[in-house]
Amino acid sequence: MNRLIYADNAATTPVSKTVLEAMLPFYTEHYGNPSSLYSKGREAKKALEEAREKIAICLGAQPNEIFFTSGGSEADNWAIKGVAYELRNKGKKHIITSKFEHHAVLHTCAALEREGFDVTYLDVHEDGLVRPEEVEAAIRPDTALVTIMYANNEIGTIQPIPEIGAICQKHGVLLHTDAVQAVGNVPIHVKDQNIDLLSLSGHKLHAPKGIGALYSRRGLRFSNLIDGGAQERGRRAGTENLAAIVGLSVAIQEACNGMEERNARIQGMRDRLIKEALKIERSRLNGDAVRRLPGNVSLCFEGIEGESLLLLLDLQGVCASSGSACTSGSLDPSHVLLAIGLPHEIAHGSLRISLSDENTEEDIDDILALLPKIVTRLRDMSPLWEQIQAKEKNTKQQEAQ
Ligand SMILES: *Cc1c(COP(=O)(O)O)cnc(C)c1O
Repeated sequence: MNRLIYADNAATTPVSKTVLEAMLPFYTEHYGNPSSLYSKGREAKKALEEAREKIAICLGAQPNEIFFTSGGSEADNWAIKGVAYELRNKGKKHIITSKFEHHAVLHTCAALEREGFDVTYLDVHEDGLVRPEEVEAAIRPDTALVTIMYANNEIGTIQPIPEIGAICQKHGVLLHTDAVQAVGNVPIHVKDQNIDLLSLSGHKLHAPKGIGALYSRRGLRFSNLIDGGAQERGRRAGTENLAAIVGLSVAIQEACNGMEERNARIQGMRDRLIKEALKIERSRLNGDAVRRLPGNVSLCFEGIEGESLLLLLDLQGVCASSGSACTSGSLDPSHVLLAIGLPHEIAHGSLRISLSDENTEEDIDDILALLPKIVTRLRDMSPLWEQIQAKEKNTKQQEAQ
């Protein structure tokens, strides 16, 4: 099998043809600086504002509530640090988040702790969900911000954001959500769901890398992160990456239109993959089966290493991912899988397959043809698997006696 199957869409996605086509003229023809006053500049400014409007419509926001950033990480940093620095002067120095956020949120919170802020890291339950009542119980008089991701990038679970939004509103606390994995995959309406700040990123939804946006509710005060020129109404300096901004707006518009129909198809592939893969002995699905992103399949196989599984899949042309952070030079399993209570040895054998609308039923057939064989092959060489088998035999013998 030499055909490439790209099944790592939660890591990044290819730029779609229509997005690329919409972008190209902004490199060669409409290259004006939106801040320039002559017609080429005004043209660029017009395209910039049209892009802002398209994105606002998809989120249920107003165009002047959308600020472009260099991606999801910057939007997360800006929202959290911006609110923290703004509200510090009012004696509010407490932030509530969860243990399984993206590092763009977790490491931002850790940086704020080093500056004297107080952070509560909520537990995530075995189903991969944060409990709204636990958010409420953690709110204190000095709480400035709650930041909970909309959908988790590893296990795909969709958090009860509207419920958390209602609680935050009741207590007068701001709510930020990292919606990088959710935008375009889950219906989002910032007003109905009481979301004050929301981060999104282009490259997870078929727009380029290096572009993202922060939604911030009108009138909300929070500090700037990037100081300089007057771009983005003086809130985020730097000449706008107009081609990418146009690409982002087209990608979001495409993702929001026909979402239901597309999700039904992707979800069908997801559920077939899950159902068949779980026939492999000692395998498990991570996170709730229903409250999960349409394309996310997160599994653990006992007795093997996720990395070896990935390497063998890669040799057969399948791009997937594992939760563990071996790329960062540590052998620790993913903080997400540990946060939902998996023991280290099980969390090591994780596999994430993330589908998009570019995947086909044939991709699922091929993955399902490979997976059991690869798992068996790895288990045959695994001392850990040998131990598991011996243990099982022991308990069976004891039961028989
Ligand atoms: C990818 C991702 C980010 C980071 O976005 P970039 O645009 O790559 O900086 C943040 N949060 C989540 C949940 C993500 O999946």
